[in-house]
Order: sequence, then structure tokens, then C-alpha cells
Amino acid sequence: ATPTALMVGTGRGAQLGILIKGPEVLESTRRADTILLDKTGTVTTGKMTLLETRTAPGTERSDVLRLAGALEHASEHPIARAVAEGAAERVGTLPVPEDFANVPGLGVQGTVEGHAVLVGRAALLARWEIRLPEELERARTAAEAAGRTAIAVAWDGEARGVLEVADEVKETSEEAVGRLRALGLTPILLTGDNRAVAESVAAEVGIDSAHVIAEVMPEDKVDVVKRLQAEGRSVAMVGDGVNDAAALAQADLGLAMGTGTDAAIEAGDLTLVRGDLRVAADAIRLARRTLGTIR
Ligand code: ADP
Ligand code: MG
Repeated sequence: ATPTALMVGTGRGAQLGILIKGPEVLESTRRADTILLDKTGTVTTGKMTLLETRTAPGTERSDVLRLAGALEHASEHPIARAVAEGAAERVGTLPVPEDFANVPGLGVQGTVEGHAVLVGRAALLARWEIRLPEELERARTAAEAAGRTAIAVAWDGEARGVLEVADEVKETSEEAVGRLRALGLTPILLTGDNRAVAESVAAEVGIDSAHVIAEVMPEDKVDVVKRLQAEGRSVAMVGDGVNDAAALAQADLGLAMGTGTDAAIEAGDLTLVRGDLRVAADAIRLARRTLGTIR
């Protein structure tokens, strides 16, 4: 009866929008007691919008938008898309960077119109010993307290502006968190974004601040999984990005958003086809029921 029960289980999974790599996945699905939720693109839509542009004294808003937009145009990150689109809407055609590099988890850097430009977290600027002037530091703190992500812009060794971007929590995320908890799992929000933004998203979906792990560099997400496993937990992880792939592979159960990157889908044990987090709970319930049938 075992193979039949598994086939029924996975067939039902396909109907629900769950793709399962193999029957062995069901056992880890059943055992999971902790579930790490990536923020951007998993709990939130990942579709960011540029809302505000703050400038340092003496800096033109259009320069901040043109140089930052040009650099971000070369990146695929959801924040980069928002900055490039928002900048193009406001200042028109963007120049092509002479030089460009992604700095994972921090931002982008490169050369635009002969200027050495940095766009990203304050931590990226700090690498070059660039600090935000008081006005911009205040703007950054206020934006983050309001749940927005503040992106710093610097060129030629000086901070010139702060861009405020935000994305929305998916309508289904709060219900999903409730369903996961009802199944006995502990949801934890995991993100590279700053703590204030992370806590504001967590509060919206019903996760308290003790269950928020923020400001985690992409390569460190896998260590968070290992640490929880070392505590004896059976860890599920839901993610969508290239930066989640290693953690998804390390997790006892990796769930990839079908709306996410190929790297995440390849690393996962299970794909949530429609990118709806509630289906993670359906998957766990289905696995438990399927195995219940087998035993
Ligand atoms: P998450 O873990 O939420 O998916 P990431 O690890 O991709 O987020 O990024 C962490 C943080 O690094 C972002 O919140 C942002 O502040 C900064 N960052 C990353 N890439 C970019 C970029 N291209 N432009 C600006 N900021 C970026
Ligand atoms: Mg993500």
C-alpha cells in the first residue's frame, strides 16, 4: 500500500500547487517543528516601489536618481528594479554604467558618468568609511521606523542621498503564519533587511520580535539553519531568492516559492507553485495525512 499512498499524496499535492521532489521528502515534511520564512518575496510580494528621495544639503535630487538608477538598472534585485524604474519615471533615460558589481546582501557599486557610485545599505558605505550626514541618518531612521527600506546613495566618497522603498506584505501571509502555528510549527522571520523593517513586517503577520532574525548576510542564512538544527530542531525554510539557495539546501525541508529564482527552486525539496505561503501549511498537513495512511 505504501507506493500507492505516496502517489495519492503527491497527486493531491500537484492539485494544491505543490511540487514534491521525491517520496522521501514527506518524512521531513512531517517532522518539521520550526519554519524559517524569508521576508522579501516570500512573506512580502517582493515588488518594491520607490517612494521618496532624500538628499544631502547641496545635492540635486535628479543627480541622486540618475546615478543610483543607472547603477541599479544593471541589477536584478527587487530593490534595484524599484530604484531603476522609479528613477527613470522621474528623470527620464538613465546613463549606462561604465563599470558595475553586485555586492550580495549589501547593494551595488560601480562607475557612472565618471563617478564612483555606491547604492545600498549604510553598511556598504561603511566599508569605504563613508558615513551618512546627520540629515540623511535621521531620514534613514525615520523611514525604517515606518517599515520602509532605506537605501543610501554615495559617490566620490560622500553620502549624497537616501532612497525609500517599500514592498507589501502578501494578503495571504498572516493567515499562513496562523495555519503553520496551528500545525505546531514555530515561524521565524529571516531577512537581510534591517531590524526595524523586519519587525514591522513580522508584526503585520503575527510574528513577535523574539522570532525575527534580521540583518543576516546571504552567506550566513545557512548558519542560522545549522544553529537551529544544532539545538535539535527539525528546520523547514521557505525562500525565493538566489540568496536563500544554500539555506534551503541545508534545511531539513526546503520549500521554494514557485514565483522565485531557479536557484531557489533547484535547492528546495518542494515547490509552492503559486507563491502562496498558505500552501506551505497545506503541504505539511498533506504529508502528515499521507504518512498517516501508510502507517
Ligand atoms: P532578503 O533577505 O530580505 O531577501 P537581501 O539579502 O537580498 O534581502 O538584501 C539585504 C539588504 O541588502 C536589503 O534589504 C538592502 O538593504 C540591501 N541590498 C541588497 N541588494 C541591493 C541592491 N541591489 N540595491 C540596494 N540595496 C540592496
Ligand atoms: Mg527573498
